[in-house]
This record gives sequence, structure tokens and C-alpha cells, in this order.
Amino acid sequence: MLEIAKRFHDLFGAAPEVLAAAPGRVNLIGEHIDYSDGFVLPFAISDTTVVALAKRPDDLIRIASMQKSSDIVEMHLQDLAPHKGESWARYALGVLWVLGVDSGVDLLIDGRVPLGAGLSSSAALECSIATAVNHAFNLGLSLPELARATQKAENDYVGVPCGIMDQSVSLMAQPGSALLLDCRDLSSENIPFLIAPQGLELLIIDTQAHHKLVDGGYAERRASCEKAVAELGISSLRDISVAQYAARQSELDPVTYIRGFHAVTEMKRVLDAVEALKSNNFTRLGELLNQSHRSLRDDYTVSCPELNLAVDTALEQGALGARMVGGGFGGSAIALMRTEQVKRCESAITKAFSEANFKAPRFFTSLPSAGAHVIPS
Ligand code: ADP
Ligand code: MG
Repeated sequence: MLEIAKRFHDLFGAAPEVLAAAPGRVNLIGEHIDYSDGFVLPFAISDTTVVALAKRPDDLIRIASMQKSSDIVEMHLQDLAPHKGESWARYALGVLWVLGVDSGVDLLIDGRVPLGAGLSSSAALECSIATAVNHAFNLGLSLPELARATQKAENDYVGVPCGIMDQSVSLMAQPGSALLLDCRDLSSENIPFLIAPQGLELLIIDTQAHHKLVDGGYAERRASCEKAVAELGISSLRDISVAQYAARQSELDPVTYIRGFHAVTEMKRVLDAVEALKSNNFTRLGELLNQSHRSLRDDYTVSCPELNLAVDTALEQGALGARMVGGGFGGSAIALMRTEQVKRCESAITKAFSEANFKAPRFFTSLPSAGAHVIPS
């Protein structure tokens, strides 16, 4: 029996009805454009969050996490409503709220996606619960419907204004592929991302840095993109080419212009990256990763010294390309390199971080893995 099923039994006194898993993600390219209707190209990592769930005959909700203290969070169904606070349980409660469950549940979470490392443990948590609930309550929701619902849970219940990418890829990813996702209508295409046969690996570097700007900085960037759209009178930054955008520079204040410039150029880089992958041109993919990093660092200004040091050191060590991933101001970077370079690169980054008096970084590698699924009993 899986550890989580045993623990569920110990905590709640009965066997779980359904087990479901959902992965964290790494965004290969297409950063900070999901909220501008852009294309993004994330893939699922092999680390997942697993949940065990059983329906209850009453209206009580009981939730526990193997990553948190052994306390069980309890709430009555009728009290489910967005509320302020720091509790991790809001991520789970939000999903139950948005899906409108009609009975209480017992829920145990075991998350193997590192928390707060920019690998989207929050989406893994939400999507594993949504997958379990969809199955246990026979809701019949499609993957795009589950993506919209879990995003709403994070936006409206937890109060984090995230885009739709993390939940979409956690739900829809296929092994061996990156997911080309159109954030406007959630249509998607699986793009083979087979780096291992090429002797390549994608190193994920968790800088362990979390700068305070995270919350305000994100909202401010998002607001700049919305301002550019409003002032240019277009429906979204998706609907303007790089050349058309550049030609209208004088209509925007300098900060708004440069933020929007990141968005329109990043959208083009995603489509170029798809072409590079389709033609197995990993040198080109590396260049696009580098351009993406420079744009996030210099135009969107969401990088930080730790992320820049990780990227620069990886490139010095011969990586084909590297960039920060996720919201920025901390979190993780990725670097595409030959498998035999990985160990040396990790040592060089660790040494550089130590010399700069930064916290020691953590390293992961992952092949593109499967999206959310019910675990057969
Ligand atoms: P990221 O999604 O990049 O990992 P977030 O800050 O968006 O970072 O989400 C992390 C938060 O999600 C945690 O602080 C916690 O509240 C919640 N969370 C994620 N996984 C778990 C888990 N296994 N158990 C409890 N809470 C979790
Ligand atoms: Mg998150």
C-alpha cells in the first residue's frame, strides 16, 4: 500500500476512495505572457503532488498535509468562502469551493514538488485535488474546465493573481513533450521535447532566494501590460507584431513600452522555440533561452542577482542557453547543457553562490513527464 494511503487510514480511520497525482512544471519559454493571452511552452516535471480523498456522509471537510504539521484543518461545507490568512489549506479549500462539492471530504496531501521553488507546487496541489474531486464526484469536467476552475481557486480564494499556465500544464502535459499552450482559448499542442537522446539535460537551479518584491512586482508588471493594451486600443498584446508594436513606441510612456516590449518579443520567441524543437535545433533553442533571460532581466526587470549569477555561471560552463523561470525576484533558473556538463556546472554555481554570500542553491533535473491522473487502485 502506498505510504499516503496508510497515513490516510491512520488519520481518518478509513481507506481513501481515490488517489490522484499532479506534477509541478518548468516553463521552457514564454514567461510572464500567460496573462496577456500569449503562447507558452511549459513541461511537467516528474515530481508530483499526490492526494488521497474520501467523501463523507456529512458536511465536514478535513484536510491534512504530510508536508505540514500533523494538524488536521477542519471546516464545514457551508463555511467555504474566500478568506484572508496564510494557511496553506486555502489552496485545497479553494478547489473544493470552486468545484462546489456537495458533501464533506477527508483529504490528505503528499507533495513532492519543492514548495515555493518556482516549480508550481501550488498548481500541483490544486490540480491533484481537482482531479480527485472530478473523479470521486463524477463531475465530468474537461481538462480546460479544470484548469480554469483551479486558476479561479488560486485567484479568488487564495488571492494570488496567477495566470492559467501552471494549472493547464499540470493537467494536460504528456510525457516526452512540452505543451504549446494558447492561453487565450487553452487549445494546446504537444511538442516533442526529447533532449535525452541528444545527450542533453535541462538543469533546474533553485536559487532559494525569495525577494519581497514578488507580490507587488507581479501585479505592477501585469498592470503595465494592461495599460499598454488600453492605450494602444488593441484587444491584447497577442494581437500586435513586434514591428507594429515598436512603430507605436511614442504612444506609450517609457516604462509601459518596455514592459509590453518584453511581452511581444517573448511571444515571438515561443513560436521560434517551437520551430527550433521541431527541427531538433538545440543551439537555436539555447539562443532563445538566453534572449528570454535578457528580456526578463533588462526589459521586464523581474530577475535578481541570484538568478543572474546562476544563469551567467551556467553559460560560462558551456550551457547552450539559460534563463530565469517563473515570476522572478527569486525562485529557479534553467540551463540546457550536455549531460556530462551537469555535475561541473552544479559545482561552479554552488561555488559562485558561496563566494557571493548567497544561500546554497539546490539542483534538480527532470525529463518532460505526464500530467495529472487518477492513480489506479
Ligand atoms: P510554488 O507554486 O512556486 O511552489 P507558491 O507560493 O505559489 O510557490 O505555492 C506554495 C504554497 O502552496 C505553499 O507555501 C503552501 O501554502 C502551498 N502548498 C503547496 N504544496 C503543498 C503541500 N504539499 N502541503 C501543504 N501546502 C502546500
Ligand atoms: Mg505557485
